[in-house]
Amino acid sequence: MGKGTVGGWREVAAGVFQRRYQPVDVTVCAIVGADGIAVVDTRCSLAEARELREHLRQLSSAPVRWVVNTHAHWDHVWGNAEFTAPRQLPPAQLWAHTAAAAEMARSRDGDPEAAAFKAELAAEDPTWAARMAELVEAVPEHTVDTAHTLDLGDRSVRLLHTGRGHTDGDLVLHLPEADTLLVGDLVEESGPPSFGSDSYPLEWAPTLDALLTRCGPGTVLVPGHGEPVDSAFVRAQRDRIRAVADHCAALHAAGVPLAEALAAEGWAYDPEELGAAVERGYAQLDGALA
Ligand SMILES: [Zn+2]
Repeated sequence: MGKGTVGGWREVAAGVFQRRYQPVDVTVCAIVGADGIAVVDTRCSLAEARELREHLRQLSSAPVRWVVNTHAHWDHVWGNAEFTAPRQLPPAQLWAHTAAAAEMARSRDGDPEAAAFKAELAAEDPTWAARMAELVEAVPEHTVDTAHTLDLGDRSVRLLHTGRGHTDGDLVLHLPEADTLLVGDLVEESGPPSFGSDSYPLEWAPTLDALLTRCGPGTVLVPGHGEPVDSAFVRAQRDRIRAVADHCAALHAAGVPLAEALAAEGWAYDPEELGAAVERGYAQLDGALA
């Protein structure tokens, strides 16, 4: 599927590069345009983003002019500040979905759940303690509700929100001329889809349906974790996500209480992975989710 490699980067389409990073096997992409580089997601810390900046030099000496976050999760956004003032001048524009930017602002402004998570990471080991000590959360000031086009000089990139799924602020990058979609954690290759406590399990499959309308047989889709995939892979994952939603709805309709739902037969994924999926699914069916 790749067109070759440059340093540790895989060129998934002309001028579109993907690279996997530890920890948490997060994917970063770079789109090289005539007016500069667009970076998609920035890893978990400033130290890692500094390394990312060095790696970008393997692709181009052009400045990073845009950073796009596929969603608000820490492993995709905590390197953002490396590309803003005072660490980068002139600063890159930061872009995200409106709901993702709002979530990042809550984390920056001391949301208790986010603060507890940061404290937990800082206590993990000296490396994490150092990362957390210098953490600066740069929140995108450029936001997208449904669609926006970024002009990179000789190519344009569509930023699309096709619905809620992994979070309420998933943003996809579509490069029609390269037949490529960068899809963040709406698709996962290296593990099952991540149904977290901020996911929308019942809406996820329709969100993928809307993406699939933009895919042909040769389309490359780059997930937030793992290797690039094709549309057949995404259709298969969509089917299993839909099966989770359907099973939730059927159990809920049958009056099976939440506490017993995971013990039911017939889940499309290991029930161990589905705790939050069922909680969120039930909450939405009860009308308790906005
Ligand atoms: Zn995520």
